[in-house]
Amino acid sequence: MKALYPGSFDPLTLGHLDLIKRGCELFGEVLIAVIENPSKTPTFTLDKRINQITHSTHGINGAHVCSYKGLTVDCAKQNNADLILRGLRAMSDFEYELQIAHTNRSLNERLETIFLATSARHSFLSSSVVKEVARFGGKVNHMVPKIVANDLKMLYAN
Ligand code: ADP
Repeated sequence: MKALYPGSFDPLTLGHLDLIKRGCELFGEVLIAVIENPSKTPTFTLDKRINQITHSTHGINGAHVCSYKGLTVDCAKQNNADLILRGLRAMSDFEYELQIAHTNRSLNERLETIFLATSARHSFLSSSVVKEVARFGGKVNHMVPKIVANDLKMLYAN
């Protein structure tokens, strides 16, 4: 089965990576779909985010990367995905995730969303928390893949 894992990944964290690995073990294939949202200016460019993911998922069997604009359900259809994969960290994620899942199902009722609970050790991680720590010179090596830690260091060097 092919799972579509959509998100901003701005940047990829070890929490995302953990979900990708577990998704590949469960479903065989995970297509990480990076959202190119023209109305939001990301911290990292689309190319940079794709590069970070490609490097970090090297060696994970079944992990692939793509980008998309527009509707997630359209991206899923174009790529023949069987399901949408999303992660749940805490109750605070739940309401938002449930709303998106219902919306997507109202657009395509055959496309199910499957949620995986975060590994406990990654449950505090979010892209924005990681950026906040890096901005003020804190260590992020235990939060993000090496390539992302380097990119963050360069970004906030000045
Ligand atoms: P979005 O902007 O679509 O929320 P994110 O990149 O923030 O994109 O998250 C993509 C998906 O990854 C979401 O389902 C989110 O719940 C999940 N996720 C985010 N952080 C973690 C984490 N630390 N562990 C597991 N899943 C996570």
